[in-house]
Amino acid sequence: MKIADIGGEFALIERLCAQAPNAHPDLLAGIGDDAAVIGGIQADGSHLLVTTDMLVENSHFRCDWATPEQIGIKSVVCNVSDIAAMGGTPTFMFVSLALAPETEVQWAESLYRGMGKACRRYGVTLAGGDTTHGAAVTISITLLGRVAPENLCLRSHARPGDFLCVTGPLGSAAAGLAMMTAGLKPPDLLKEKHLTPGCRLDVGPAIAPLAHAMIDISDGLAAEVNHICKQSGTGAAIVAADIPMHPLAFEAARMTGSDPLTFALAGGEDFELLFSIAPQDRQQLERRGIDVVTVGKVTNAAAGILIRLPDGKREKLAGGYNHFS
Ligand code: ADP
Ligand code: MG
Repeated sequence: MKIADIGGEFALIERLCAQAPNAHPDLLAGIGDDAAVIGGIQADGSHLLVTTDMLVENSHFRCDWATPEQIGIKSVVCNVSDIAAMGGTPTFMFVSLALAPETEVQWAESLYRGMGKACRRYGVTLAGGDTTHGAAVTISITLLGRVAPENLCLRSHARPGDFLCVTGPLGSAAAGLAMMTAGLKPPDLLKEKHLTPGCRLDVGPAIAPLAHAMIDISDGLAAEVNHICKQSGTGAAIVAADIPMHPLAFEAARMTGSDPLTFALAGGEDFELLFSIAPQDRQQLERRGIDVVTVGKVTNAAAGILIRLPDGKREKLAGGYNHFS
């Protein structure tokens, strides 16, 4: 049986995790959120957050498209994004590295220079790691963080009636990737969104005290809405026409013969945040000068997870990036 036969990445994770103890009184949230949440061990009363992400050469990055410095930046950003999605701030980082025997020392040093840039930007301290050799360059980063208990935003906290909001335009990274894959030269903005994205640590902790559920958009809006609904036991109604997208993403769709909506719904690595919030608190965000866009609502589970397309038709909200399908 192959991984695709059982439904892909997430079905596999469920099967694997059943093989080991995965519950503990101090583990407030384990498998199934952007980071694990461990309570009761930090002297200041904050929860410890732990997240990990792995990038593999030719699957997640291409050395002919991205400089080692860009790869270093992105490898840190995707982890910081997961900490921001919990409402937290990052602290210490561990880097496990597999390098091919022919890897140049200068390449590895530039990779770390990129990581260093991102670490300085987001307040992260390198605290350890592991180095070995392998057939493909592999970068696995584990990032710790902290969050005040009252700011913790779990994927399971959405409530029917909440607005679903995003922190910025979606689909730009996917648009950049589509152009590069088609052999076209993307405009700088789209190229940067794909190769050296930022993440929303600037707003995550400020949104957290008011938000219910939060998740970062790494696998496309459709996947992330489904994750929130699954964990919260809710449905959702998304309005396609309300999803913010950059005009250049529409242009990229035209040039590559793609559907722009697919960039936003199924394109990975925007690293914006998706969160649910009570309607009255949504206005609070505005008063505090935090700019977000409402893209839909949380509904009861029985209503399903739906999207209203620009032509008015309602469809099941499927899609999103799954590593094995
Ligand atoms: P994200 O996209 O936010 O990085 P993932 O989709 O990679 O999250 O993972 C979803 C959840 O499954 C996370 O809680 C993660 O810790 C857990 N997980 C993923 N792969 C494994 C694995 N091989 N073993 C144990 N837990 C895993
Ligand atoms: Mg995430």
